[in-house]
Amino acid sequence: MKVTLVVPCYNEEKNVALFYEVAEAAFQNKKIEYDIVFVNDGSKDNTYKELKALFTAHSDKVSVINLSRNFGKEAAILAGLKRASGDYIALVDADLQQRPEIVVDMVNYLEEHEEYDVVAAYQEHRIEGKLMSGVKKMFYSLINKVCDIEFYAGASDFRTFRRTVAEALINMPEYHRFSKGLFSWIGFNTHYLPYVAEERNAGETKWSVKKLMKYALEGFMSFTTMPLRFATYLGMIVSVCAVLYMLFVIIKTLVFGEAVPGYPTIVTLILFLSGVQLLILGILGEYLARIYVQGKGRPVYIEKEFLHGSKEESEK
Ligand code: UDP
Ligand code: MG
Repeated sequence: MKVTLVVPCYNEEKNVALFYEVAEAAFQNKKIEYDIVFVNDGSKDNTYKELKALFTAHSDKVSVINLSRNFGKEAAILAGLKRASGDYIALVDADLQQRPEIVVDMVNYLEEHEEYDVVAAYQEHRIEGKLMSGVKKMFYSLINKVCDIEFYAGASDFRTFRRTVAEALINMPEYHRFSKGLFSWIGFNTHYLPYVAEERNAGETKWSVKKLMKYALEGFMSFTTMPLRFATYLGMIVSVCAVLYMLFVIIKTLVFGEAVPGYPTIVTLILFLSGVQLLILGILGEYLARIYVQGKGRPVYIEKEFLHGSKEESEK
């Protein structure tokens, strides 16, 4: 029985060597066999050099995928999943916020509980500001209301799962990959394991407020078409109001004769209705853009090199 650790790395030059050491220590004297697939997601620092050195020193345990540029964590994870060979697969960050020791517990849990396919770590207490946790809470309550699948607040993508689950994930062909949503969509029995995230070892987080917002929108758009329906409802409401107002204007004209003043009403209506139309066009556009990108059928990532075993492979 073997577990493969899939580790996406973007500018983690100071972390990867330590990660290997910690992982090795975690699995020492355990009955679990392991190997690590590092995915260099177009790092701009010396991460790839460090990874190559790790590979040279421990080619039995380490393989390295080098992507042709930065494709984002979700793409890096997919690349790693496709190359993972273990019976179990664990997704772990390179910055040691997610301790490899916990993977051992996760694998043991899966070994003991055949009815479960996934063990997901979730943070009971997050080290973050009140504002951030409030915003996140709102996001999850909203997304759970409008999406057909359930999102588990606080669950991270620090997970260990069986091969079958990995294959299900690989078979999801979407370009925009929101892994939390993908995990809920594919189903399988998930056990949630509370854990406390450590402080980042070195370097800094890649999440900015802008990136987080984009990510949240991605999750939203990928798993619900509710905004499109919202556009329909809003259109209906506005149409009903327009008909009522039209009747009012006709009756008023018939009874009181034609009145010239009415400029404010017209201006207000034009502004309001153009606003509504633009909003709805925007919503349509968001979905259209996604269909466009998906329609081009571009790969989610491109592998430049794959270092494994004792030979080197170069792929386009
Ligand atoms: N990561 C990646 N590609 C990216 C951004 C991040 O592979 O474009 C990796 C990063 O190297 C780390 C993991 O994803 O191993 C989580 O990133 P980070 O620590 O910045 O996120 P946080 O822990 O702050 O949520
Ligand atoms: Mg981190």
